[in-house]
Amino acid sequence: NYLISKLVFSQYIIVFLPSFLHNYNTNNNIMNQTKYIFVTGGVTSSLGKGIIAASLAKLLQARGYRTTIQKFDPYLNVDPGTLNPYEHGECYVTDDGAETDLDLGHYERFLNVPTSQANNVTTGRIYLSVIEKERRGEFLGKTVQVVPHITNEIKDRMQLLGKTGDFDIVITEIGGTVGDIESLPYIESVRQLVWDMGEHNAIVIHLTLVPYLAAAGELKTKPTQHSVKTLMESGIKADILVCRTEHEISDEIRNKLALFCNVKREAVIQSIDASTIYEVPNLMLEEGLDVVALKKLDLPKKAAPDLKNWNTFLRRIKNPKHIVNIGLIGKYVEMQDCYKSILEAFIHSGAANETKVNVISIHSEYIDASNVNEKFKDLDAILVAPGFGERGIEGKIAAVQYARENKMPFFGICLGMQMAVIEYSRNILGYADANSTEMNEQTAHPVVNLMEEQKNVTDKGGTMRLGAWKCDIKPNTLAHKIYGQTTISERHRHRYEYNSAYVNVLHEAGLKASGVNPDTGLVEIIELEDHPFFIGVQYHPEYKSTVANPHPLFVNFVAAAVKASKK
Ligand code: GLN
Repeated sequence: NYLISKLVFSQYIIVFLPSFLHNYNTNNNIMNQTKYIFVTGGVTSSLGKGIIAASLAKLLQARGYRTTIQKFDPYLNVDPGTLNPYEHGECYVTDDGAETDLDLGHYERFLNVPTSQANNVTTGRIYLSVIEKERRGEFLGKTVQVVPHITNEIKDRMQLLGKTGDFDIVITEIGGTVGDIESLPYIESVRQLVWDMGEHNAIVIHLTLVPYLAAAGELKTKPTQHSVKTLMESGIKADILVCRTEHEISDEIRNKLALFCNVKREAVIQSIDASTIYEVPNLMLEEGLDVVALKKLDLPKKAAPDLKNWNTFLRRIKNPKHIVNIGLIGKYVEMQDCYKSILEAFIHSGAANETKVNVISIHSEYIDASNVNEKFKDLDAILVAPGFGERGIEGKIAAVQYARENKMPFFGICLGMQMAVIEYSRNILGYADANSTEMNEQTAHPVVNLMEEQKNVTDKGGTMRLGAWKCDIKPNTLAHKIYGQTTISERHRHRYEYNSAYVNVLHEAGLKASGVNPDTGLVEIIELEDHPFFIGVQYHPEYKSTVANPHPLFVNFVAAAVKASKK
């Protein structure tokens, strides 16, 4: 008996030891559970929760923790794809084809780790899912209510990425401001999760504003006190306070904030205005945000964050050797957030070229043949932006013509590429009415037309050609020189395409199709030979540009602009 039990017991050890060691090794510290950090906002919107979340994630990642960030948005659209960019800024697209909030772009740019649909959830998506379950009879016999049905759905989604086992720490940003009616189910869900998981497994960071009253010459803590109080009324105690401010917060004010907001003194973190968002991880490191968060989560600090490459990048942004002026030709230029990923990609590629890229926004609605020379005279290069609908497209076509004829570096993205096809058809082939059927359904020369698979699509939400698709690049082309490989994958968001019926005739006339989707034959890249840099892409390279991996198209475009500026 003794022998048998010993044998059985030792088998257990043999069976279980490797799995225990495996857990131990992959997590480095004995972590059997993903830890959660929730980020809420108070006082006002636009404080930069996304940047604080991304900066904290960066520091945790640099200390060796596998970290991801997700965002919960309190509006009823199922995704931001149906929103006008003026409403909500750019719609960011992930590899898996999710149309998401632009903060996911910051997460990818900071962490260099791709996000997915699971990283962005809206109230619309939550309700849609609960109502579909109700229709299927999953709650049969029950009254379906905000609490517990909506909150349970939110809690499930909040833990989705954590349960994959891929992450040690999941940071969850709650959109909106505490006290908003529409944020309440999220705040209640956070309260329940923190209660469920226990204080060392889930913590709350509250981001607030400490305004400066010029007339009084003072920083004011009262809005923060009220905002923390609102959070407390919902049953949530902030573990860490991040205070946005335009001026240094004195020790005295920090003490006051700690005392009245019920947080430890070390957990009052100042977030002062920075000259670039890429400075914020360093500022948070100085303030000890990562260390306090780890302490509250009962996790070791591990190594000091390795920010060597990050700081090299920062040094390059701050000490440029060249300056270029690049025109951004679009119709949403009044609002910077509409072209967020493009602007950030210029910062990454500028650093790679040790160049300051001055992006000069030019409204395409007001460009025409009579003023284009004057408007473009100080530019070194132009980028024609993506977009939808007719407004401003004639200006974009005039811009392409200028760049082509004056041998100015040109980069067209999505609609910008389609405009280059139209310009060439009109001015080189003489198809005077050449157009996209998006703008003119009756044109005799539909050089850009609706993709076949789009012809029966009537729903507008999430139905474009979205996400990552492959592209084969032809040898001996500019595209091949830039990418240095023959197969690439890039992200898309469009319904129209370069009409295959015109590809050969335009190719013969000099507009080369240098990249093509291997399965459908859809043209992904066009370029001109006798030109220093003329390239148009049907996809959105800007979504994949990060600090660690600036996008090669942007890097080479900026290099071409630098070359042009020297002439
Ligand atoms: N409106 C064009 C299309 O749907 C271009 C889209 C875009 O620029 N993202 O194809």
